[in-house]
Amino acid sequence: MPLPKAELHLHIEGTLEPELAFELAARNGVELPYADTEALRTAYRFEDLQSFLDLYYELMAVLRTEQDFADLANAYLARAAAQGVRHAEIFFDPQAHLTRGVGMGTVVEGLWRALEHSEREHGVSTLLIMCFLRDESAESATATLDAAKPYLDRITGIGLDSAEVGHPPAKFREVYEAAAALGLRRVAHAGEEGPPEYVTEALDVLGVERVDHGLRCMEDPALVQRLVRERIPLTLCPLSNVRLRAVDVLAEHPLPAMLDAGLLCTVNSDDPAYFGGYAGDNFDAVRAALGLGEERLRELARNSFVASFLEHDEERRARYLAEVEAYEF
Ligand SMILES: [Zn+2]
Repeated sequence: MPLPKAELHLHIEGTLEPELAFELAARNGVELPYADTEALRTAYRFEDLQSFLDLYYELMAVLRTEQDFADLANAYLARAAAQGVRHAEIFFDPQAHLTRGVGMGTVVEGLWRALEHSEREHGVSTLLIMCFLRDESAESATATLDAAKPYLDRITGIGLDSAEVGHPPAKFREVYEAAAALGLRRVAHAGEEGPPEYVTEALDVLGVERVDHGLRCMEDPALVQRLVRERIPLTLCPLSNVRLRAVDVLAEHPLPAMLDAGLLCTVNSDDPAYFGGYAGDNFDAVRAALGLGEERLRELARNSFVASFLEHDEERRARYLAEVEAYEF
């Protein structure tokens, strides 16, 4: 049995495996410019952020109906469950769908078809976090939040993702204020390729409760002290960091130093179909490459539940934490 864990940094669009991409393409009459799943899998071995983003958006064309989004989420939940994920807070990127004529309702209701049965079918509790694309305008983010208003009973929080450099958090001050007024939880990607100042800005200007990635905080000791003091969780994605060159090799990942500094780090998969593995694969990889001992792994699992947005169900959080403490390696 794998170590129980929560996944807090997972883009549902990034779970599209080549096999499902072809299945959905056939179902929807979408022509993919790849001969077969093997050719597509080869394309998944991109070398940089831009080629990843190009492929990522190209493949989204296969997602058209509610059932497509349900199938995508179901496939992820089954894989996550097999790797010990007990709770998943799932990102989705509505702007990537709205701009190609797929409505907010199709995306949210489609995902919900899978999420509402997830506990029974996969043993995984779920929450949904809507992300804004930071390379789009602030006005577009606000329009997206407006489009989501009929579905807010299904959406727990908002996030900010895509190309970070040149798009500082402050650009999205207004939409984050509006989301806070609606009672939504707030997270944002910051300090992945962007500088430590973006992490500070996400905290001060956007009021985020959790930072996605955040690894460049290590360049600013005062920021590290603050993150430790305020118990701000960081959702790290080690395999993603290697694929997108945030670190050269996994053995040089700052995770051990971050844990030693007292940071509340978690380990997640980001876009697992593209970056070489799901949550459990990321745990296995850091264990092997960084020599993490069992108690370090238990700490990471414990952190994932501590950092999760389970305030509405503390009984559940306590149950998951008890599973972590009782786990025998
Ligand atoms: Zn991400």
